[in-house]
Amino acid sequence: MSEQDNDFREIIDTTSSDETKGEDEHKDKDEYEDICYICRRPESVAGKMIHIPNNICICNDCMQKTFDSMGSFGFGGGDNASLNNVDLSKMPNISMINLSDLGGFMPTMPGSQKLKKKKPKEKKETPVLDINNIPAPHKIKAKLDEYVVGQEYAKKVMSVAVYNHYKRVATNTMDEIEIEKSNMLMIGPTGSGKTYMVKTLARLLDVPLAITDATSLTEAGYIGDDIESVVSKLLAAADNDVERAEQGIIFIDEIDKLAKKKNTNQRDVSGESVQQGMLKLLEGAEVEVPVGASSKNAMVPMTMVNTKNILFICGGAFPDLDNIIKERLNKSSSMGFMADLKDKYDKEENILMKATVEDLKNFGMIPEFLGRLPILFALEALDEDMLVRILREPKNAIIKQYQKLLELDEVKLEFTDEALHAIAKEAKGRELGARALRAIIEEFMLDIMYEIPKDDNIGEVVITEDYITKKGGPQIMMRGCPGLEDKSNS
Ligand code: ADP
Repeated sequence: MSEQDNDFREIIDTTSSDETKGEDEHKDKDEYEDICYICRRPESVAGKMIHIPNNICICNDCMQKTFDSMGSFGFGGGDNASLNNVDLSKMPNISMINLSDLGGFMPTMPGSQKLKKKKPKEKKETPVLDINNIPAPHKIKAKLDEYVVGQEYAKKVMSVAVYNHYKRVATNTMDEIEIEKSNMLMIGPTGSGKTYMVKTLARLLDVPLAITDATSLTEAGYIGDDIESVVSKLLAAADNDVERAEQGIIFIDEIDKLAKKKNTNQRDVSGESVQQGMLKLLEGAEVEVPVGASSKNAMVPMTMVNTKNILFICGGAFPDLDNIIKERLNKSSSMGFMADLKDKYDKEENILMKATVEDLKNFGMIPEFLGRLPILFALEALDEDMLVRILREPKNAIIKQYQKLLELDEVKLEFTDEALHAIAKEAKGRELGARALRAIIEEFMLDIMYEIPKDDNIGEVVITEDYITKKGGPQIMMRGCPGLEDKSNS
């Protein structure tokens, strides 16, 4: 017996003994799928298999091909060709299997010849907040509190808006009394948590979310994504389930970039006219969108999506809006005897919270557009204390994530208060809001994550201010020994 035959016997012998055979076969049926002996495709791809003796499976396609090629050589019983004068082994792309050869050394197909089936997706968990039975605003806010630090006003406004919106959707009262749609306009500098808040909300509500950048949008017919492409993005996020998509959230970031350009004679295809084009979407309209593609063409199927119940949230940094607000405030306060000092508002950090529709009109947003985003609010500027809280408090706080990672190596990770403040101070300097926090932490955690798993004796690491300011190293404590050891990261 050849060496190869021996190998096969080994596989077969180890697969099952007689008592467990029945059980194993049953298990095999559940967990494994058959593979075509010729083309090697699994049943989930090639379709139902034809079983022939010796536990060999052949897919329909291969079986058909075999018959076809046999037919073309006259196996069908024609007169002018016979098996005797065609040497099939010399024909290209044809390999003949002699089943009787296989029988001798392969009584069953070994398990390794089968492919493990993909497990069906686990059953969906129930959402934290059920949109069909939406909880009261204070409960929505309480859930947001677990993830979003501060921003009390924004969280309150959003909770009420979401409550009203989904209450209206669930009870379908939209048409009876004209309740205004709760579309929102969120003002906040970069990194202040606009996207994060919308993402958190969508996750808690378990609704599909599409995030798009207003700068990439153009009027239909011009190069770029046309406005309706945001709806097809939402459809994709809802796994092409139109009903789910129709209850989703669309977040359009950088909406300030659509402001009317001052003093220009050119046709404005990406600013004001996109605002115009968005009006009907914001209000609620039937739009025809491609399924499974971002652009319309003859090859993709189309479907109708109604945007009536889609919640639109627009966000933007609106640079210079603070000057417009200050100007207005100064104007109104510089009249009469009680005239204030001109620079009264210059130092105010949260001036954006005082924004009104009028200020946004002056910024360049068109009144019709603003009219369809009735809920206007601004996020607070993030100060050092708030940044420290963002590092420490949220359920998925970045520090907690690293602690969890090191916990897997049974190493405790701690940050001193001073270290957290040093990180926050550095982040504030970068003017990227909370987004800078992750970048900074990642920079110095790289060394920690690289060095710590090298040494099994390390039990605890304390990140100090000196380490953040590059004046020293972290404190490393060895397992089972109470003494400290200072270790530089160099
Ligand atoms: P924006 O969209 O305003 O530019 P992001 O939403 O992308 O900013 O925010 C960047 C990151 O900052 C988020 O991923 C989030 O981790 C963090 N962040 C910002 N604000 C908060 C907050 N209030 N609470 C918790 N994390 C926050």
